[in-house]
Amino acid sequence: MVKDNSIFEITNGGKIKLADSVIETLQQHKQINKDSLESGGVLLGRFIKVSKNIVVDKITTPMKGDKQTRFSFKRLSPLHQEIITEEWKKSNCTCNYLGEWHTHPEDFPTPSGVDIRDWKRKLKKDVFSGRYLYFIIAGIKSIEIWEGDRRTLEIVKLKITN
Ligand SMILES: [Zn+2]
Repeated sequence: MVKDNSIFEITNGGKIKLADSVIETLQQHKQINKDSLESGGVLLGRFIKVSKNIVVDKITTPMKGDKQTRFSFKRLSPLHQEIITEEWKKSNCTCNYLGEWHTHPEDFPTPSGVDIRDWKRKLKKDVFSGRYLYFIIAGIKSIEIWEGDRRTLEIVKLKITN
């Protein structure tokens, strides 16, 4: 198993860190077999106020009602949103919706045209606390993160850091 990076630089000068359990869940859903389907879900985590850093603590995984094919994932189950609301309340409003993840059946993932369109739509329409949303694609050999700015709708790939 390739060791996946868990810390990336974000544009505000801080870092985004994926918790170990998040990396493990992403690894479990990688499309390593020739017939494995795309998976996806939402990112949940915290803004670390003193440091500009963000931690992704939790992700949801495919649930009944979601649509999974070899080359697409559609998050259709209302349970993802229910979990977002539940975690928000349970955490005294510190656990936020931070973005989305999905897998790709390619070694080093790049977003498709459909992905970019979906991400921009989320930046325009979704209710979220910060200025940015984060989009993870888990490929077979690497996990990559993109940051979307809701003011400019610009999407940038984040650099790996330590
Ligand atoms: Zn995609």
